[in-house]
Amino acid sequence: MTYTQPQLPYPSDSLAPAISQETIDFHYGKHEKAYIENLNKMIQGTEFDNEDLEDVIKRADGPLYNNAAQAWNHIFYFFSFSPDGGGEPSGELADAIRRDFGSFDKFKEEFEKAGVSLFGSGWVWLSRDQDGKLFITQEPNAGNPLRKGLTPLLTFDVWEHAYYLDYQNRRADALKSLWDIIDWDMVESRY
Ligand code: MN
Repeated sequence: MTYTQPQLPYPSDSLAPAISQETIDFHYGKHEKAYIENLNKMIQGTEFDNEDLEDVIKRADGPLYNNAAQAWNHIFYFFSFSPDGGGEPSGELADAIRRDFGSFDKFKEEFEKAGVSLFGSGWVWLSRDQDGKLFITQEPNAGNPLRKGLTPLLTFDVWEHAYYLDYQNRRADALKSLWDIIDWDMVESRY
């Protein structure tokens, strides 16, 4: 099976100033493209060929896992944004955030802190378990909470390539800016 890179549902200049067109063109257009190309090369002839990408992420190891997870993580990340995003979640997800973190502001604070304090490259995730309880986890490198049996809802990429063109070393500012473009309808649909 050959995995293909979906086209983003918004123009690459439409998330600025949170994420510049240049960053999207490099990050989605070159980094993510390379992960998918590597995945397609590596998966040929393995037991994982023809499997759903989520199953590959749950069971593969080494370079195949790294490229499969990076391919999936970036699509998940970029499809969490919208030029009309921002604001706050509603419905059951909003209730669960209040229940498990105290308030939406407390959740944002904890999520940013988890992203800023993750040493090196990786991802910070909001996920739910089978009972709907919410968890914030830090995952190094390509890490994905599907490996832990959790259902991912939202992620921030904290690899330097995600923000260095726009924010240089200011990871905290880069993460804070993302709240302005979150597509909460999408995140709620995942919950
Ligand atoms: Mn990235």
